Amino acid sequence: MTAGKNYQRIYLTTFVFIAVLITASIIIIDYIAAEEERMVEVTDIGGRQRMLSERTVHLLLEYAMENNQEARDHIVKLMELSLQKFDQAHQQLIRGRLSDGEVVIFSDSIDNIFFDEPEYLDLKARIFIYNTREVLDREWSPDLISSYYLKQLREATKQDLHSSLDVLATQYTANSKSRITRLRVIVAILLGGIVVVLCGVGLLVFNPMFKRIEAQEQALHKLAYIDPLANCHNRRSFLAIANTTFERSRRYKHTFAILFIDIDRFKAINDNHGHAIGDKAIKEMTRICLENIRDSDIIGRIGGDEFGIILQECGLEYAIQTAEKLRKRISDHIVSSKSATIKFSISVGAATVDDSDTCVDDTMKRADKNLYKAKRTGRNLVIAA
Ligand code: GH3
Ligand code: MG
Repeated sequence: MTAGKNYQRIYLTTFVFIAVLITASIIIIDYIAAEEERMVEVTDIGGRQRMLSERTVHLLLEYAMENNQEARDHIVKLMELSLQKFDQAHQQLIRGRLSDGEVVIFSDSIDNIFFDEPEYLDLKARIFIYNTREVLDREWSPDLISSYYLKQLREATKQDLHSSLDVLATQYTANSKSRITRLRVIVAILLGGIVVVLCGVGLLVFNPMFKRIEAQEQALHKLAYIDPLANCHNRRSFLAIANTTFERSRRYKHTFAILFIDIDRFKAINDNHGHAIGDKAIKEMTRICLENIRDSDIIGRIGGDEFGIILQECGLEYAIQTAEKLRKRISDHIVSSKSATIKFSISVGAATVDDSDTCVDDTMKRADKNLYKAKRTGRNLVIAA
């Protein structure tokens, strides 16, 4: 599998993995929010129960003091409504089924509050309803206010029923809270997982990938602009730099020189001693040139055994000096291999940019002409104009 396909597969897997983790987190967070809402509703129903029981007792007291039949009938109607609501809320709490049909967690501890002996909440609620009906069923008398049932009901609202409702709400809240804490831990783990995956992918995948891309970019740049044998600019790169150098020299009134170098009788070296030593001669000649020009100067292989050098900020005199130095160093240099030891020379044509030049080609043509002259005049020479 290619590196590109591999990265694609890693990217897709990571994407799916993170998408799953995020979706799971969102579902759980949504669940937590719903749980919080249910918790509020349970507490709310518990509070309503308290209020309804107090209202019932309050109405019963009014009922016990009232001997006007019409007023009593009205109180009975209100009582019925109140009891009905009380019973409904009670059923909701018992089943844990809230207004939206959702069921809250009905744990053993909650079950115990409702149904455990001796005084469970379900019984207390039924007794409350029963006692209320008992009072309502009595004939009115002045003693009704101090009747046993009314007394019981007042006691229930004061402590018994209410304390159980408080315990119930606390228990529901505690259950819900522990569930929410668990879910929050899971969400934190999932989100932590995302961070770990992202860091891991960044460190183990993207970092090497970026390094690889950078290396490939450098390799491509080398391939496009660098001559692989001489390890200097290739023809295309050299000509592009020559053009910009010419443009800049025109704009800033700077001068520059161009040297055209060609190895003398190079074909014979190849023929007599082999291509390998010929290659070595090209490499070593380039190295010698690079060692003897400034960092700002540019050397490029124009083709075969022909090279060009751009000498920045350079007049004719300095160009000749440099060319002579190169010619001398190269002709003194010995190239040796296992099979042969050779010496070779170069011919150099030099030219500086002229006011009459319209493009860098004009300068280069003069340098080339001078190189041709040097070849014709006997080689191992520098000719400048
Ligand atoms: P002259 O003095 O007139 O320049 O003679 P010459 O033999 O050098 O003639 P010319 O410059 O025309 O020959 C260039 C030779 O360079 C031809 C070719 O065999 C050789 N050459 C070109 N590129 C390479 C290369 O990359 N490696 C080697 N070893 N030889 C090369
Ligand atoms: Mg040659």
